[in-house]
Amino acid sequence: MTKEEIELLKSIQVLYVEDELDIQKITADVLSSVCKKVVCANNGVEALELFDADGDFDIIVTDINMPKMDGITLIKKIRERDNTFPITITTAHTEVHFLQESIDLGVNGYTLKPIDLKKLMKTVAKVSEGRVLRKKLEIFNSELIQKVKEQTFELHSILDSQESLIAVSNIDGIHTINKRFLDFLGLNSLDDLKKEIGSICNIFIKEDGYYFSENLNDMCCLANIDHTTNSDIFVKMKNFAGIISIFKLNVNIYEYNGTHFILSLSDITSLKSESDLLQYQANHDSLTQIYNRQYFNSFIKTEISRSLRYSHLFSIAMFDIDHFKNVNDTYGHDIGDEVLKNISTIVKTYLRDTDILARWGGEEFMILLAETPISEAFTKIEQLRKHIEASTLAPNLKEPVTVSFGVTEFMISDTKAELLKRVDIALYQAKNSGRNQVVKI
Ligand SMILES: [Mg+2]
Repeated sequence: MTKEEIELLKSIQVLYVEDELDIQKITADVLSSVCKKVVCANNGVEALELFDADGDFDIIVTDINMPKMDGITLIKKIRERDNTFPITITTAHTEVHFLQESIDLGVNGYTLKPIDLKKLMKTVAKVSEGRVLRKKLEIFNSELIQKVKEQTFELHSILDSQESLIAVSNIDGIHTINKRFLDFLGLNSLDDLKKEIGSICNIFIKEDGYYFSENLNDMCCLANIDHTTNSDIFVKMKNFAGIISIFKLNVNIYEYNGTHFILSLSDITSLKSESDLLQYQANHDSLTQIYNRQYFNSFIKTEISRSLRYSHLFSIAMFDIDHFKNVNDTYGHDIGDEVLKNISTIVKTYLRDTDILARWGGEEFMILLAETPISEAFTKIEQLRKHIEASTLAPNLKEPVTVSFGVTEFMISDTKAELLKRVDIALYQAKNSGRNQVVKI
């Protein structure tokens, strides 16, 4: 007997049918010494009862010639119940015609009497092998299915517990989505999402600065995202109640049975508005809400390098409110602030979108006129000066508020400091020559 045969016998339950009790005892003792369990029956009727009652046997070893119900009838009845159940027979030389009949009925093995117990064991092992292996495989499979179920459940629990909205997609589209994502969209299942929305990309709102992809399925939409970029990708999405939120989008790729994308979206709406506000505050003057000196300085620096690279020209104008100290002294600082705010609004409205207006400090302001040569700049600023003079900058002012301007054009040889110095000189000249006028240099 091989080690494999012994191992196999150890796991099987045998239904042994024999009417001669001395043979039954000796054979059953030997089988029991190796097999997991051996149950004896004295004839076919007893055997069938045991088979029907228990059903957990792996093999039937049966004699042929027996009272009440012989082996052939037993085999027929077993075959009616289970066409593939392992059966082996023990038969004498004198009963050889039974052997042929048994083979026709589909028995799987035989051992001649007097029984060579070693041969019987080998036959039992061989005949039951298929069933035992199949049973083991079934157990293994059901354990595997259970394991996969547990792991899938665990994975879903993990996905559902995440703060982010998560979806997993392969070439056919999204196959897994977490509860938070469905809740955000007010949907119950992934099927609802596919029915009502189609591709996940249809959720993204088209807007500058946010990722958007048109008329594509999930796969194309996600594959389209440039994963190599270092900069963050943002999307805007509307929830079931119509509230728009901003999300940082992350796509990870993994390869298993094809390409999968793991899409995760973290809500950064409050962060984004906070950082937008901080950015705004850093660049704007708190009184007039126009750009501040710091922003103008960095803008002009960029404009100078742009100008040098693409041979663009631009002009700048600096202005100062005439006798502003008198306004404050006569009418109070509140009126002074009012004048500053209203001048800012008037000038901003007068300028084009591409021009920049900044408060330089106190009652001094700076204007950058994009793509404007000095002659044109002078004309425009002169018109602006007249416009300010004609405007009411605060109620009950006895005299009109006027401003003095210095204007100059950027020259290729200029540094930022030289350019600013020149416009300052032009403004100084305008002041010195009687105010309420424009001087160009
Ligand atoms: Mg017999």
